[in-house]
Amino acid sequence: MPSYVNPEKCDGCKALDKTACQHICPNDLMVLNKATEKAYNRELDMCWECYNCVKICPVGAVEMRGYADFVPLGATVTPMRGSDAIMWTVKFRSGMIKRFKFPIRTTPEGAAVPDGGFETVADLNSHLLFTQPASTGLTELAKLK
Ligand code: SF4
Ligand code: SF4
Repeated sequence: MPSYVNPEKCDGCKALDKTACQHICPNDLMVLNKATEKAYNRELDMCWECYNCVKICPVGAVEMRGYADFVPLGATVTPMRGSDAIMWTVKFRSGMIKRFKFPIRTTPEGAAVPDGGFETVADLNSHLLFTQPASTGLTELAKLK
């Protein structure tokens, strides 16, 4: 099920140039209706349900019906992002609520090293992955004869 913006909760990101959901959508699907200052998903068929907009919305206005393998039938699931963890709240049809908290990073916020400490690859046409061969524990990869 594609994402759905609850117009009663959306505040249009308080008229920023680009809203959080527009910024994060990898498919460029979210649009802000300037007249109503509410966002919406303009191309439901193209939504790959990545949950980015659901997780980033600061007011929890984006909803999605989760897959049955992790959200029981008829339940709603709402994420709340923190700086080091994300809390998923599942509300069952009976009204029962369960919360699950998962860590989302292994380093303090702002401390991640973009290249992971590995040296920059000089040859972008190389068939090696960025951290190879160092991450394999080898000095060089085996070659086919
Ligand atoms: S991120 Fe949330 S509040 Fe901001 S425009 Fe999108 S749906 Fe509305
Ligand atoms: S779920 Fe992902 S692809 Fe769909 S609108 Fe949100 S950010 Fe875009």
